[in-house]
Amino acid sequence: MPYLVLCVGDRPDAPRPDSQRSEMNAEAGVKVIRIGFDELVTLLRSILERHGAPFAIADILARNCATAERDGAESHGVFRIPGYVATLESGYVTANATPVLEDASPALLRVDACNGFAVPALATARATALDKVRACGVAVVAIRDSHHFSALWIDVEPFAREGLVAATFVNGFSRIAPYSGHQRFYGTNPMALAVPRQSGDPLVFDQASSAMAYGDIRIAAREGRQVPPGTGLDRHHQPTTDPNAILDGGAILPFGGHKGSSISMMVELFAAALCGGSFSFEVNRDAYPTAETSRSGQLVLLIDPSRGAMRDYAARVDDLVAGLRGAGQSRLPGDRRYAHRRDAAQKGIPLPARTLADLQALCDGK
Ligand code: NDP
Repeated sequence: MPYLVLCVGDRPDAPRPDSQRSEMNAEAGVKVIRIGFDELVTLLRSILERHGAPFAIADILARNCATAERDGAESHGVFRIPGYVATLESGYVTANATPVLEDASPALLRVDACNGFAVPALATARATALDKVRACGVAVVAIRDSHHFSALWIDVEPFAREGLVAATFVNGFSRIAPYSGHQRFYGTNPMALAVPRQSGDPLVFDQASSAMAYGDIRIAAREGRQVPPGTGLDRHHQPTTDPNAILDGGAILPFGGHKGSSISMMVELFAAALCGGSFSFEVNRDAYPTAETSRSGQLVLLIDPSRGAMRDYAARVDDLVAGLRGAGQSRLPGDRRYAHRRDAAQKGIPLPARTLADLQALCDGK
């Protein structure tokens, strides 16, 4: 059975070879290793530490990335690790940044991420944000000078598990042409909303405002697949289904025409203008050509529904979900992720053996 070689400079909690199981993915024809969540966190943390992140930051990022992988978010799981490494090594992000909390008002918390990653900045702000939303019924967390490189539902789902409504918005780096335009202007500008349910996991949606997430276009290019019509333009401003033509000087399109373009504009106005950071079109990483993150911003909105809703909010969410199912919507946002999570809890997180070997090589500094 294939096993993981222990990392250089291992900690006592380093990956244990005997906790993995291998199997064949008949459809893809590749060998798959099932790895435990904690084991994957340890491996990813070791990689990030080796490439410059302090233990505490590496741990937060590794848990975030392993969570994305566990829940089947292929474009934001371990696929992103080489990008983290390249960005850390480029010096674009300040790996050991200490976020600074600014208590702007009873309901507003500003966070200067000091050019560090956004996920640790939000983790630093979390306790104060919870105090504020409990005290005021609403709280706004405005993070600036931050690098977000992951999926957003991981940021908001935990708040919904505390009974809160949580929304977040992140702007990025120019990749999307505005509606009827052709130049890269907006970031892929994702947003997520999480709300508590009375009976079950929170209802969460999380989506880019581009027709396709940038990571998914890269995966399509890597796998030699075409992308659907309406995904992007080539460098000559012509519609194309070739992911390489989009990536090589072209532009991604917003989802839903002018409506998605306006959503992307809203994300810029929330995550950049309101938080005090750069618009996507202002982000300049020419001096860091190997970096993959954007120095931008993130807004998190929290509402305590027990303070304002006229009826039991979580029960009303259940009513809505029942209504949607009754109306014929068999799959709701989050269903796929929760199914992946349940599967991983039983059998481990499936990773192609090749991917695991690549991660191990990064861990070993190769
Ligand atoms: P998808 O289009 O894959 O999914 C968007 C949402 O719709 C999800 O909540 C998903 O639920 C749900 N969904 C998907 N298909 C269906 C369906 N058939 N029926 C019902 N619901 C459905 O996401 P995107 O490609 O737009 O974004 C992917 C990820 O990229 C997001 O997590 C986003 O946060 C991240 N991202 C991060 C960026 C950053 O700067 N950090 C930039 C851009 C994107 P489910 O999750 O259960 O599939």
